[in-house]
Order: sequence, then structure tokens, then C-alpha cells
Amino acid sequence: MSKLDFIVEELVTANRILANEGVVDSFGHVSARHPDNPQHFLLSRARAPERIERDDIVEYTLDGTAIDERGRAPYLERYIHGAIYETRPDVHAVVHNHSPSVIPFGVTGKKLKPLLHMCASIGHEVPIWDSHDKFGDTALLVSDMDMGRDLAHLLGARPSALMRGHGATVVGRSVRHAVFVSVYLELGAKLQMQAMTMGKIKYLSRGEIDKITARVGDYSLNRTWENWARRAGREMQAMVE
Ligand SMILES: [Zn+2]
Repeated sequence: MSKLDFIVEELVTANRILANEGVVDSFGHVSARHPDNPQHFLLSRARAPERIERDDIVEYTLDGTAIDERGRAPYLERYIHGAIYETRPDVHAVVHNHSPSVIPFGVTGKKLKPLLHMCASIGHEVPIWDSHDKFGDTALLVSDMDMGRDLAHLLGARPSALMRGHGATVVGRSVRHAVFVSVYLELGAKLQMQAMTMGKIKYLSRGEIDKITARVGDYSLNRTWENWARRAGREMQAMVE
């Protein structure tokens, strides 16, 4: 199996997992940097994540131009992906979602921070990108590279960012890593809202977050991936180096 075949298959599985775990609904998407050309990325045509097949995956340049569209309509918000790959050479996968539990944090400005060890990978504190700050009244969608780059700038070197009134964007060093962080971002937000009703929260310390994050390797990623993939009706493939 070629690296490209492997990544395309990973993306199909990632879409099914994110849908099955409640991170995406009929909207939201996940991409991967092209394994043979870092200036391109792979992303499905505009379709609900749960329905995506191999043939839906389209190759794009970083500015969001399709290489061989073949009548497959693109996601409007593909600029999120291209702009992040442009500014973050360490990133190999991007998830954009409208994950329900993160929305209250984006609109209240209440800081979303890890309080559970499994959620350390969301970062020390998740920043909020507000499209209104620079672009005023819009449809809130990231509809060009200017908006994508502004979001990428706010994200900086972090693993995740919220988008006010819209959702979140998560990055990873692999498709499995970006999916892992996305699932635990949704869970962390849900738990934080529950804990906030009970009293003062003792969050993970910065040192704890760094130590836990350093331990998140193939062992954890593959263990969750196998379980989530099976649950979504997909098999885990052997890694292709
Ligand atoms: Zn969106």
C-alpha cells in the first residue's frame, strides 16, 4: 500500500469516527497533508462526514485550488486547512468541527482548559478566534485565505482554537492525533460545564499538561483509534511508514 492510499483510507475512517463520536454532524471536515507533497493537502468533497468514501477525497493546493475536481464540489471552508498547513510545517492533519459542547465557551469567553488527564492534548488554554474582530459582519464561515490565515495566526503553535458562534479547529501530527484531540476537546468542554455548576475547578497545572502531552504517543493513539474505528464500522489499518 502506498503512503497516499494509506492516508486516503485514514481520512475515510477519521470522518466516520468523528461523526460516530458526536464531534461532527452533517457539517465539519478533516484533512491530511499530502504524504508526497507538503504543498498539497487531501480533503473530502462537500459531503456529510458519515457518508464519505475513498472517491470523495480531493487533492488541493494550500490556497484551496482543487487539482482534479471531477465535478466534486469543495467545502467552502477548505481555506482553514490550507492556511494552517501554510503556517505550521509540524501539522499533518486538521479537523474543523461544530462540536456542540465547545460552543458555549466560544460565545461567553469563559476559558476552556483541561481538567481531565485525557484532555491535556487540547493545550494549556484554548484561544477563541472571533471573525467579527477583523472581518465584521460575515456569515461566520471561513470563506477565503485572508480569514484562514487570520485563524491560523490566532492558533499560533497551539493544538486547538475555538471559533466564536461557530465551532473549533484542531491540528495534529497525524490524522489519528488530530482525531484524538478533537474527541477529547468535546469531552473536556462537556465535563468543564458540568464541573462549573458544582463549584471551583482545580484544572491541570501547566507542568501536568506538559508531562501528559509528552506521553501521548502511538500506544494511546492506536488504542483509541482501533476502538473508535470498530465502533464506526471501520477496521484499523497497519501503519505505512
Ligand atoms: Zn464551520
